[in-house]
Amino acid sequence: MTSAAVIDHTQRDPWEVATEQFDTAADKLHLDPNMRGILRECQRELTVHFPVRMHDGAVKVFTGYRVQHNTSRGPGKGGIRYHPSASLGEVKALAMWMTWKCAVVGIPYGGAKGAVICDPKTMTLQQLETLTRRYTTEIAILIGPERDIPAPDLGTNAQTMAWIMDTYSMHAGHTVPAVVTGKPLSIGGSEGRNEATARGAVYTIIEASKHLGLDLEGARVVVQGFGNAGSFSAKLMAELGAVIVGLSDTQGGIHNAKGLDPNKVDAYKRETGSVVGLPGSERVTNNELLELDCDILIPAAIENQIGEHNAPKITAKLVAEAANGPTSPEADRILYDKGVFMIPDILCNAGGVTVSYFEWVQDLQNLFWREATINARLKEVMVRSFNDVLQMSLKHKVHMRTAAYMVAVARVAEATLTRGIYP
Ligand code: GLU
Repeated sequence: MTSAAVIDHTQRDPWEVATEQFDTAADKLHLDPNMRGILRECQRELTVHFPVRMHDGAVKVFTGYRVQHNTSRGPGKGGIRYHPSASLGEVKALAMWMTWKCAVVGIPYGGAKGAVICDPKTMTLQQLETLTRRYTTEIAILIGPERDIPAPDLGTNAQTMAWIMDTYSMHAGHTVPAVVTGKPLSIGGSEGRNEATARGAVYTIIEASKHLGLDLEGARVVVQGFGNAGSFSAKLMAELGAVIVGLSDTQGGIHNAKGLDPNKVDAYKRETGSVVGLPGSERVTNNELLELDCDILIPAAIENQIGEHNAPKITAKLVAEAANGPTSPEADRILYDKGVFMIPDILCNAGGVTVSYFEWVQDLQNLFWREATINARLKEVMVRSFNDVLQMSLKHKVHMRTAAYMVAVARVAEATLTRGIYP
């Protein structure tokens, strides 16, 4: 399961943020108003309410969603989130971000996302399995290997994907591995998928540091969130010689200016349930963590973490968004004016969906690749995409998020235009 920071509902609605980011890029691209109208909405929004029998015999009704933002470039693709504060607006934003993410790295998918409002941390494995199987059945009208392919996100993992794959396969009457990605290796998962989001983020950080003339050896790094993206990002950055000066999870943050060993932090979290309390570390709040003195900040938790209130206090020279939507548009402007270099989410964390694509291709071909091949192909995609976005940013003198959107929106608009409007 992935950890998350605290959601602050006084902050901006993710769908409003997503559409504002889109509008900024659409203006710069002088996008045709008709095209703008199409791309600004989600194509399909499914809400489901379904009963699950809990172990005390009571029946609890859960609410879930699956949204497809745009499928012009290929089937819908995107994770499923289990979180107590999931909402339709959040899922729509995450689905739209998936469309741009797949386009910016040039993989043949549209954008989709799903969620169930629940707190997986308080549920038993048995309840999670029952909930997952029923939710899968409810969204079966949308998903399929050629239609819409879910993957893990906050609160879900490879086991969740195994249950989805099994449920879908039971209905089909035969095994359909390509209906989800992020599966366990034993049932058609891919080597390298677990670390892919972090590995992809680190490839973009390496490219950015070359551009900025920043030495990663000894660079001070803060990572917010110690779930899948955060924990592997910390480990990979430490392997490159960076010093991890701050880390956090839902329980709080820890700091040590001389450096924290992410492998030790991981072992400590497995033992105690949190990074907080690690011997030799000082406790910090989530806000203090983001403002720690550092060179590189990696938000790897959830949306709405860097806003107007704390952006002026960020000391990092480079922000690499391993999470989706951590920075508000106001904060983007403040950071840009301060000269902070931003690797935006739709580029920075696209390594996850890129290796999902490799997994899907392997499943469809029944031919599996070695980890070295996966990582080399991932690197090629991330380096190329980073440079596409950097060139766009330099050419149009816009910040990296707007540049990433411009690359992505232009590709999706071209696909939509070429296909034409049906009927
Ligand atoms: N949930 C991940 C993301 O936000 C991965 C999606 C996927 O692999 O389809 O990018």
